[in-house]
Amino acid sequence: MRLLLAIALSLAATATWAEPQNSCSNADALGVSRIAEIDTTGGPRFGEQYPGDHLLQAGEVVLTFDDGPFPNDTKAILDALAAQCTKATFFNVGSMAAAYPDLAKEVANQGHTIGSHTWSHANLAWLPQGRAIAQIETAFTVEQRLLGGGVAPFFRFPYLSGPKHLVTYLGTRNIAVFSVDVESMDYRARSPNAIVRRVMGELAKRGKGIILFHDIHAVTAKALPTVLSELKAKGFKVVHLVPKTTLTTLPAYDRPAGHVVAANSSAEPHDPPPVHKHALGHKSQTADELVHASLSQADLTVSP
Ligand SMILES: [Zn+2]
Repeated sequence: MRLLLAIALSLAATATWAEPQNSCSNADALGVSRIAEIDTTGGPRFGEQYPGDHLLQAGEVVLTFDDGPFPNDTKAILDALAAQCTKATFFNVGSMAAAYPDLAKEVANQGHTIGSHTWSHANLAWLPQGRAIAQIETAFTVEQRLLGGGVAPFFRFPYLSGPKHLVTYLGTRNIAVFSVDVESMDYRARSPNAIVRRVMGELAKRGKGIILFHDIHAVTAKALPTVLSELKAKGFKVVHLVPKTTLTTLPAYDRPAGHVVAANSSAEPHDPPPVHKHALGHKSQTADELVHASLSQADLTVSP
């Protein structure tokens, strides 16, 4: 009984919900069924990778988009979400947000939740701890600066690698870790219909889940209107995740983050990181090199 009480208290401390404000002009829209306010104290973990989370009830889904922002595709995805008056969480890559700050701001301005997905999509399981932490903290600090605050203490590991020592570190930083329940496999989809079939097929089996998309693929943008209308037709409800408190950045990263924001304010746009597969253990040397191109070694080795 004591254990059950402890679990109940833990859940109560992790998430509370509220009714969304209805400002939608589309009466038949998918919308948002409820807002789940996440208390990130101690770094709670969500998704299939971390058994025991009770974030979602039967029939509920969370929409998440990784790796952006990226021109055209992110904008088309925002339009599809707006047409259905629904909300998502975007796990931005820091270097992408720095390259496309106006787009990053547009995502936030439309009321979506902004989390982080490292600075350059590095596989943190392959990095020494200091550099892995620099990937995490630099991205959060840059995004917080670019957006003028409001970044959620929500993090997703590239490749869902999630090494234990970094999960522990994120706990000390009161940053929640989000894994995935339903992978859309959009990074390898050859048609929008393949994404629709995959997502709806997985949801038919699971009945609920955190869904992973990537807002850097045209095929994802093309599939999303149909995915959303199918979710509505099948009776699924969208839960909008919001943080109880916004992120607190570390002063040690203010200087490198300032350099990045200044350097990218006049930089030419670049292509997205070249590797987006979420297979466990996949090494991304190219992405790792990106962070060194953008930040000095001294900045990267700074300790919080
Ligand atoms: Zn990713």
